[in-house]
Amino acid sequence: MLKDFQADYIVVGSGFAGATIAERIASKLNRKVLVVEKREHIGGNSYDYYDENGFLIHKYGPHIFHTEKKWLWDYVSNFTDWRHYIHRVLAYIDGKKVPLPFNLNSLYGLFPTPKALRLEKKLLEKFGPGQKIHILELRSAQDQELKELADFIYRKVFLNYTLKQWGMRPEELSPEVTGRVPIFISRDNSYFQDRYQGIPHEGYTRIFERMLSHPNIKVLLRTDAREIIQLDFLYRRIYLNGREFQGRIIYTGPIDELLDFKYGELPYRSLRFQLEVHPVEYYQEVAVVNYPNDYAFTRITEFKHLTGQAHPKTMIAKEFPQEYRRDEPGKDIPYYPILREDEVEKYMRYRREIEKFDGKILLVGRLAEYKYLNMDKAIEGSLVLFENKIK
Ligand code: FAD
Ligand code: UDP
Repeated sequence: MLKDFQADYIVVGSGFAGATIAERIASKLNRKVLVVEKREHIGGNSYDYYDENGFLIHKYGPHIFHTEKKWLWDYVSNFTDWRHYIHRVLAYIDGKKVPLPFNLNSLYGLFPTPKALRLEKKLLEKFGPGQKIHILELRSAQDQELKELADFIYRKVFLNYTLKQWGMRPEELSPEVTGRVPIFISRDNSYFQDRYQGIPHEGYTRIFERMLSHPNIKVLLRTDAREIIQLDFLYRRIYLNGREFQGRIIYTGPIDELLDFKYGELPYRSLRFQLEVHPVEYYQEVAVVNYPNDYAFTRITEFKHLTGQAHPKTMIAKEFPQEYRRDEPGKDIPYYPILREDEVEKYMRYRREIEKFDGKILLVGRLAEYKYLNMDKAIEGSLVLFENKIK
């Protein structure tokens, strides 16, 4: 079957990074692309599907598309219409549900009004309205009451959630991880402030089907690239099923795997989702409620809020963080790179090995770049790679 398809490019992985680069090469360069995907479906971690009850479910956790960049939004809009949706998250703290990121409304939700008034004034004076502050920055405040507030937010929002999510304390991770959820000096309850936000009208998988349904693209599912591609590091040659491959590879999988873990494994964090159907129209107020301090799960997602589906019952997913084990089914999905300085150095050693292939192997996406990328950034990485290194 493969013999009839003479690929110019092989793309490993069919998530947003892989699908975007494959789509660009096929439609803009009119070259043939073989997309190799080890799962039984396209779409990577953004994949969604309809279950037997008719619920549209995000298999790998809640995915909300958001970006500041119009050109990026326009690119994705070639493949979908959007359901207008502004993401809101509540955090369950001391028996109350308050907005997250922690903002002025959260402050009033958790403290008696006179104290909240005082704190609001101090926050506005020190940081200014509309500012987003890293928890570490708030913790370094001199004012005693602000310091106490910082300690409160650190303990009640970040510490236990991060211990559950990563098995580590916030300060053991790169500050960019907790920096994703700032303290927001505002009354705006939305989780993201990006100008463009939405949920694809017909789901994410439909986007991938449209991106990849091009006569120049062939998708090979249930195929681990390592079964069909061999790399000769000595002579810098690539083999496809034993025959030398003259084209280029765009790799979006884990980089340590590609190099047989020669510098050791890069750490990842995995997740387990527990799906539950409840015989009520709605289970909770918003799509995502975080539980920093209670239960073993970190958050509950109720999909109907995201998808806008009407249904007399509802489906929720409880999200349990777990160790990543590449040889253990159920734990073998590398959801998150664990960003720590020494690990990033290890990653760079792997990357330098790949660079020896003189551009015949290109790396893009969350796993191959070992970065905590949102969907817009994974797409952007591929669009930039296409413009700079491929076109
Ligand atoms: P992936 O989607 O991981 O795709 C990589 C693909 O490569 C996979 O399909 C994998 O099977 C395949 N692959 C790997 N190795 C091989 C191999 N050897 N052979 C063949 N195939 C291989 N982003 C947002 O913008 N908004 C959100 O709300 C959001 N929520 C998220 C929630 C969770 C729980 C998680 C984990 C991530 C979330 N993200 C979100 C991030 C989003 O999932 C990523 O940005 C996106 O999936 C990155 O795309 P990718 O193509 O780089 O990687
Ligand atoms: N975080 C936290 N408490 C929360 C939400 C987030 O401590 O209620 C921290 C935690 O370390 C988490 C990180 O901030 O991993 C990033 O959160 P985000 O919501 O961006 O996580 P994602 O949706 O990517 O899993």
